[in-house]
Amino acid sequence: MFKSLIVGNWKMHGTAQTAVNLATQLAEDWNADNEVEMVVFPPFVHISAVAAAVAKSAISIGAQNVSEYSAGAYTGETSAEMLVDQGCKYALVGHSERRALQNESSETVAEKFIAAQNAGLIPILCVGESLQQRQNNQTVEVVSGQIAAVIERAGLQNVCRAVIAYEPVWAVGTGETATPEQAQQVHSAIRAQLGEAGTATPLLYGGSVNAANAADLFAQPDINGGLVGGASLEAVEFLNIAKLIEA
Ligand code: PEP
Repeated sequence: MFKSLIVGNWKMHGTAQTAVNLATQLAEDWNADNEVEMVVFPPFVHISAVAAAVAKSAISIGAQNVSEYSAGAYTGETSAEMLVDQGCKYALVGHSERRALQNESSETVAEKFIAAQNAGLIPILCVGESLQQRQNNQTVEVVSGQIAAVIERAGLQNVCRAVIAYEPVWAVGTGETATPEQAQQVHSAIRAQLGEAGTATPLLYGGSVNAANAADLFAQPDINGGLVGGASLEAVEFLNIAKLIEA
């Protein structure tokens, strides 16, 4: 069945107490019958506390990153199995901040995607172009190349069982948002790249989504939800955005 998602990426913010407070507020307001799935991505150290806070709600938990390795001498890393054990259902792979700040290549992103899926997590593969690439008219080429690198290693069917988030790098955390037309153009190119196998793959848009711009973005035919960073740290704002998604 086709699923719409609203995803909150809390990045590296908050204490265990503020994370639990935020999760509790969301859980109190989010309707279990909703056809839109809400997923929150707390910092790793708060995952188990947040999982406990949302345990009786319809809210799912995701991890902001995952190791490409299943176990071993990888100091500071966290395996997909450990994340499942802590209550995670999803994992972000290839977020632009990790591609840029941790130098994650498309090959590493593909390995993380495979490790997540093998452990039973649903990867949310993040893709997107830089401002310069957009100005050079390379947007679709860059995005399709990032997806192709994962298809090459994980296989098309497995990519189509995951979630893809289009997040223009110039729009993440900047207050700049792609216009609905710009976003739809890329989403439609992604849908075409996935072909028949990807007709039900959820395609999310991310990049400075807020309650004022979300409705027009979510009204686009190939946008099936949102990946929200900054605006997901405030319960009322995030709930308002979530309620704008049509299931
Ligand atoms: C993100 O973290 O993926 C994101 C889109 O952040 P923001 O909404 O703050 O741009």
